[in-house]
Amino acid sequence: MSVSLVTVLGATGSIGVSTLDVISRHPERYSVYALTGHSRMEALQAQCLAHRPRYAVVANSDQAQALQARLRDARCETEVLVGCDALEQVASAAEVDVVMAAIVGGAGLRPTLAAVRAGKRVLLANKEALVMSGALFMQAVKDSGAVLLPIDSEHNAIFQCLPSDFARGMSNVGVRRILLTASGGPFRDMCGADLVSVTPEQACAHPNWSMGQKISVDSASMMNKGLELIEASWLFDVRPSQIEIVIHPQSVVHSLVDYVDGSVIAQLGNPDMRTPIAYALAWPERIDSGVSPLDLLSVARLDFRPPDPQMFPCLRLARQAAEAGGTACAVLNAANEVAVEAFLARRIGFTDIPVIIEHTLECMAPESVQDLEHILLTDRHAREHAQNWLNSHF
Ligand code: NDP
Ligand code: MG
Repeated sequence: MSVSLVTVLGATGSIGVSTLDVISRHPERYSVYALTGHSRMEALQAQCLAHRPRYAVVANSDQAQALQARLRDARCETEVLVGCDALEQVASAAEVDVVMAAIVGGAGLRPTLAAVRAGKRVLLANKEALVMSGALFMQAVKDSGAVLLPIDSEHNAIFQCLPSDFARGMSNVGVRRILLTASGGPFRDMCGADLVSVTPEQACAHPNWSMGQKISVDSASMMNKGLELIEASWLFDVRPSQIEIVIHPQSVVHSLVDYVDGSVIAQLGNPDMRTPIAYALAWPERIDSGVSPLDLLSVARLDFRPPDPQMFPCLRLARQAAEAGGTACAVLNAANEVAVEAFLARRIGFTDIPVIIEHTLECMAPESVQDLEHILLTDRHAREHAQNWLNSHF
């Protein structure tokens, strides 16, 4: 068996750490080519010493000098590179077989797209990249022959429940609709008025999953499910109206596909991202992920209920942006990133998040997408709009 060379974009994050855990269980299959980090330099250093990648990529030259010196002292030959061009370089280098795209937010778009354009096996965790650039991203996958495998647990589940020729079109393979499950986040059982005073700590305390801060807040506001609706519509070429969101508090059924004959196929498992990561690394084979077997008897019950649109306006905003198309989803994503950051910095309240997003969407009418530069420009403008509005109102 030949060894696959893997680049992990966002190695120091939650998905990055889980990816390295799975990789380290299979040294005969995977070797690390590059690791990237942004602020957690000690973690990146430890990862370099453990995995001995050819390259590490950091955000600025001060970080690079310090890390390079420490690695040299430890007799580690990893070369430290800097900045977004270097991220693109390690995502698209000829030697690389697999790229885990696990940078959070719009910052991941360029390197993820570079991996796609270079025709890599791309393991997509960075949903914001696809939400921002939808049609352009999927066209690049087609043009380059990249193998795109979803890491988001719901999309990985749907991928597992679809037939292998699903690209022929959902109606051609007998799919009626997709049921996207959602834990509902930490505030699923609260009433609307209580949401006004929730703190970043409460928002980040997810009941079932351990994740980075941004996606944790998105889960609490259910914008995560909104972004996932958009992500699913691009990955599987389905209309947003064919995707139903179902609250499933146990996070054991990771999503379902409803077929025209009445069959509903689901994927189940413990809520641990190493399962989708191992699946995507080895596909079409299966490898050990380190995840313990699902004990259905201790889970005992599986509940399902509809989301409350009053409590979670982000769901409506995401659906509207998905229906509007063009640049609307890039605007939605940018405004959400600004709002989440402001919430985490305690500048705004939790219920202000959808207000800022809605205002930004109203200010920026959707345009049809021309190219990547157009998307990046839209992203910048939407961030400025959201930030200016935030500065003048809070
Ligand atoms: P984390 O915040 O834990 O990690 C984010 C990673 O991106 C870190 O390595 C971080 O570096 C790096 N990073 C942050 N900002 C930048 C930047 N401007 N430029 C380059 N790198 C940057 O997030 P998660 O691992 O939780 O999530 C990663 C992605 O995966 C997100 O898009 C999320 O939506 C998606 N995802 C995550 C799931 C999960 O269970 N965690 C589930 C499904 C999807 P550093 O830490 O060094 O600052
Ligand atoms: Mg998910």
